[in-house]
Amino acid sequence: MVLETVSGPGGFVVSCFGSPVWDGERQTVCRREERVGAVEGGSAHSGWWRLFDLAVNKSVSVADMFQLGWGVGGETWVWRRQLRAWEDEMLGEFQTLLFTISLQAHSSDRWLWQPDLDRGYTVRSAYQLLTHQAVAPLEAAPGLIWHSQVPLKVSILAWRLLRDRLPTKANLTSRGILSVGDSHCVSGCGSVESAHHVFISCSMFGSLWSLVSSWVGSAPVTTQTLSDHFVQFTSSAGGTRARRSFMQLIWLACVWVVWTERNHRLFRGSATSSLHMLDKIKTFSFRWLTAKSCTFALNYHSWWSSPMLCLGLV
Ligand SMILES: [Zn+2]
Repeated sequence: MVLETVSGPGGFVVSCFGSPVWDGERQTVCRREERVGAVEGGSAHSGWWRLFDLAVNKSVSVADMFQLGWGVGGETWVWRRQLRAWEDEMLGEFQTLLFTISLQAHSSDRWLWQPDLDRGYTVRSAYQLLTHQAVAPLEAAPGLIWHSQVPLKVSILAWRLLRDRLPTKANLTSRGILSVGDSHCVSGCGSVESAHHVFISCSMFGSLWSLVSSWVGSAPVTTQTLSDHFVQFTSSAGGTRARRSFMQLIWLACVWVVWTERNHRLFRGSATSSLHMLDKIKTFSFRWLTAKSCTFALNYHSWWSSPMLCLGLV
């Protein structure tokens, strides 16, 4: 078996391609891929990829890792550079997960079907697994960040936002850059400026969403987390692919306009109303949709009053 990364959130993966399947004492891994981080049944740690990235020998087998020792001070751990404190903590967590795993040198490896360990693999159980799997919103939102008609800088803003990596006042306060007394929202609403506050719950900026929904003619969004909001907004005008793509673009335009407005208020001292922000969303989305397609002719005036009609999506 080989440890390698997976795409997406990433992690150490025990992969079984062309090599024996790991059959531990407590846990048996039978899928073609299994995150070591998920072995204990908890959610996979999104930071394992960093440890993997820092590891010198990326193609070491699980058996060799076990043999070299993967506990504290084990010889398995050779890094490109010294680990930082938080990476060290992460390694500690990882070692705790591995601590409970003991490889059986003398029992042969075999394939197992995890959803049904007693009866093994059946087409029926595979079908049930696939059809009963709910799409987790947290997994769905990152997939919406990138859109071929949206400028890269906007997608990168959304990417940072969904990871709560924007320099909001709450984030700067928690890093000791701002004092607690300076962490108020620029709209003057009196709340602490967190990402969630600026983009969803602020009485000033948050009111933009209902204006946008009524411009588009879509259902209002009720979810509370930013990721869920993105997912729900994207499907709030109907489930067809074209509508979802359009709503995805609009959400990204909103986020861009809100963050730009927040920065203008903070650094330039200027302020525009919600209605003016809606106008900016209309202008940006129109520009993005028409910029990359020379055959795509949109009537600007009909766009302004009814974008779905204009796009032929009604
Ligand atoms: Zn506010």
